[in-house]
Amino acid sequence: MARKFNFSAGPAMLPTAVIERAQQEMLDWNDSGMSVMEMSHRGKEYMSIAAKAEKDLREVMAIPDNYKVLFLQGGASSQFAMIPLNLMGDKTSADYINTGMWSKKAIAEAKRYITVNIAADTSEGGFTSVPTQAELKLNSDAAYVHYTPNETIGGVEFDYIPETNGVPLIADMSSTILSRPIDVSKFGMIYAGAQKNIGPAGLTIVIIRDDLLGTASASCPTMFNYSTHAENDSMYNTPATYSWYMAGLVFEWIKEQGGLEGMAEVNKRKADKLYAAIDATDFYGSPVAINGRSWMNVPFTLADAGLDAEFLKGAAERGLVTLKGHRSVGGMRASIYNAMPEEGVDALVAFMQEFASKQG
Ligand SMILES: *Cc1c(COP(=O)(O)O)cnc(C)c1O
Repeated sequence: MARKFNFSAGPAMLPTAVIERAQQEMLDWNDSGMSVMEMSHRGKEYMSIAAKAEKDLREVMAIPDNYKVLFLQGGASSQFAMIPLNLMGDKTSADYINTGMWSKKAIAEAKRYITVNIAADTSEGGFTSVPTQAELKLNSDAAYVHYTPNETIGGVEFDYIPETNGVPLIADMSSTILSRPIDVSKFGMIYAGAQKNIGPAGLTIVIIRDDLLGTASASCPTMFNYSTHAENDSMYNTPATYSWYMAGLVFEWIKEQGGLEGMAEVNKRKADKLYAAIDATDFYGSPVAINGRSWMNVPFTLADAGLDAEFLKGAAERGLVTLKGHRSVGGMRASIYNAMPEEGVDALVAFMQEFASKQG
């Protein structure tokens, strides 16, 4: 059995070492005589797994003590509603930066609950760049500012953290969390679906500053209220126990790789190699402005889209799979999250060079 280099945007590759560890522990976790999947979430074994995962995530991301870490379900998409329901307080509007498909979805959902001011919008350029700080039309009376630091579909990533002058900054980090060190204290809240850089699908992580808790609207459902989960250590109801355990194994793996500094070093090198291969020839192109190029999701096009199918076929023959671009962008997209080994990027680059010289 050979594992392929899977460039899927999500669910995405997990580190092989993590899957092997899960395999070893599958039938009998730590002499408990049970699989983690079979454990009560209130038993001491599972409670220790959950607590260790949170402790390791706090250590890896250097999360300050005045932030709660929640392990939720419902995906990043549920957050699109939970954010206004919890954070609007006595305000009537929130600022949203629109840089792509995921921003758009967050905005559409928020509009059901709150007046949305669009602080910047890059749709005219086809969502291929990030607005500068000077271009952000922020409103000092906004309940919060929401943005998507990395747009997974467009492959557009902010190269700075917006300054919001005291208004809580909320970030959908689904496809960039854990890719490099970040200063958590600059954010009111960070959230991410797990299936890109954290672990298997089914888990959503919310990191929220504690002064933002307790202000949910009266009609906010219990399960949508962050306070419910904060007060119950994310065990108000049954959490996604196995995904949480797997996330914990990923956090341990990140620590072994030198933490987020170590991840960042490899991730930057992987992205640089891939963009260099795209830029080396007119055979390939990148739609994204240079300062907005994502480290995690790399869309690229072939000058002759008629060769797309042949490119995908040749790549698949070499074990390089799931490279087809999102239908809205076309071309290819290589998602190169933490778990994509550098050898996977090297193999893709080698194939791109070979294909271009054969066809070009
Ligand atoms: C994948 C993704 C989502 C959606 O996540 P779900 O967990 O499927 O709801 C939202 N935002 C971004 C930036 C994503 O990459």
